[in-house]
Amino acid sequence: MKLIFEKGTPGRGLSLMPECDVPEVRLDSERSTPLHLPHVSENELTRHYTALCKRLFGVNDGFYPLGSCTMKYNPKIDEDMAALPGFTSVHPLQPAETVQGSLEALHLLGEELGEIFGMDTVSFQPAAGAHGELTGVLLIKAYHLDRGDTARTKIIVPDSAHGTNPATAAMCGFQVVNIPSAPDGCVDLDALRAAVGPDTAGLMLTNPNTVGIFDKNSLEITKIVHDAGGLCYYDGANLNAVMGVVRPGDMGFDCIHSNLHKTFATPHGGGGPGAGAVGCKDFLRKYMPAPLIVRTSGGFGYEYPEKSIGRVKMFNGNFSVCIKALTYVLTLGKAGIPEAAMNAVLNANYMMSRLKSKFEMAYDEICMHEFVMTLVGLHKDTGVSALDIAKGMLDNNLHPPTMYFPLIVHEALMVEPCETESKELMDEVCDIYLKLYEQAYSDPQSLHDAPTRTPVRRLDEVGAARNMILRYKFE
Ligand SMILES: *Cc1c(COP(=O)(O)O)cnc(C)c1O
Repeated sequence: MKLIFEKGTPGRGLSLMPECDVPEVRLDSERSTPLHLPHVSENELTRHYTALCKRLFGVNDGFYPLGSCTMKYNPKIDEDMAALPGFTSVHPLQPAETVQGSLEALHLLGEELGEIFGMDTVSFQPAAGAHGELTGVLLIKAYHLDRGDTARTKIIVPDSAHGTNPATAAMCGFQVVNIPSAPDGCVDLDALRAAVGPDTAGLMLTNPNTVGIFDKNSLEITKIVHDAGGLCYYDGANLNAVMGVVRPGDMGFDCIHSNLHKTFATPHGGGGPGAGAVGCKDFLRKYMPAPLIVRTSGGFGYEYPEKSIGRVKMFNGNFSVCIKALTYVLTLGKAGIPEAAMNAVLNANYMMSRLKSKFEMAYDEICMHEFVMTLVGLHKDTGVSALDIAKGMLDNNLHPPTMYFPLIVHEALMVEPCETESKELMDEVCDIYLKLYEQAYSDPQSLHDAPTRTPVRRLDEVGAARNMILRYKFE
């Protein structure tokens, strides 16, 4: 397929700009080469993007079970509310008294999410999950330094954590202490006890962790860390399995982030705006990013916490994402939120129990919102890898699950059906997964050759990563 720059002909195109009616001013430093803009008609432009669109696959096309990503269907009413002119036509530099509705919406969302998190204060500044982690761990750092405790230089991160956790700790200047998981997929408590000490700043726990297991020892974990003088960070990017059922704050965690673009109804992927809402207990409030939105005598306004770590993003973060989250929370309500969580868990366990008849599970435990299969045995028997099975799925019009993640499971396929899929669809998908398993034994070559029905066949992934071509070379 040609790029848009390779289509059209010079001079073609539609300009809706009126004749210039003010004096032209030339810039001091002008470009030495002409600007490369596509010269295409509206018709060509529309066809180009429609053709690209047809090659895409998204949640609106079909089953999209990317584990660790919570690619659920997001109700369209959330988009409608975020598009209301009252929300889209205001500017964050307007005086607070002229944007009371928007401030009230953020304040209300803070209260609702605070309730779900079990936290006292919530900030919406962070733009994504990893950004929320950065903010949360900076709160932990500020807390220790404020007390004059400079010896706490280490953050403990279990090996089942999301990869952003150790990266965040390192970005905040901490040394990362990695501890192993026990055979049941939970944190190894003895390893944790051995790791904590006067140099422990805190622990970051992804829960449910990246193998889809809820750590049953959460209370013990936070106690061990607190007894050593550290604080506890909860990575709640995917709260889909636990929202409204258990609260991280009640498990002893001091701060948390949650991805509004996974759990709370903003579609994600493709780099669109997200939000990594950060919640904390009262004793950390004074370090929160400034400003916080608070109730005032006359309505709503801004508060600048006394020892704030500063701003982490302009204004109030990605505001429209917050409106979607608020709409989602209010439409589901107190009964609907835990119901969605329980259905997410039910769906994952349903698929896992059907697939267990053939596929080996990495952890044969009741899972949360996702489960991980290990295809090591199948690979040994047939030569067919997790990658081959994933490519075979493409030929069956299925988007594959997450592959080769988490790193602690070999030949991993990680499936997260979400609560928004029906039993009929999951049955169809399970039938195809099981058929592919059989095919690995009966005709392994066909899976090495897959995909055969997609616009491109196998890509040279190593080549693409090593020799990145990120710029288009104009002739
Ligand atoms: C997705 C995810 C993150 C990172 O979120 P981004 O918005 O991609 O930065 C962190 N932790 C977990 C557990 C996640 O699933």
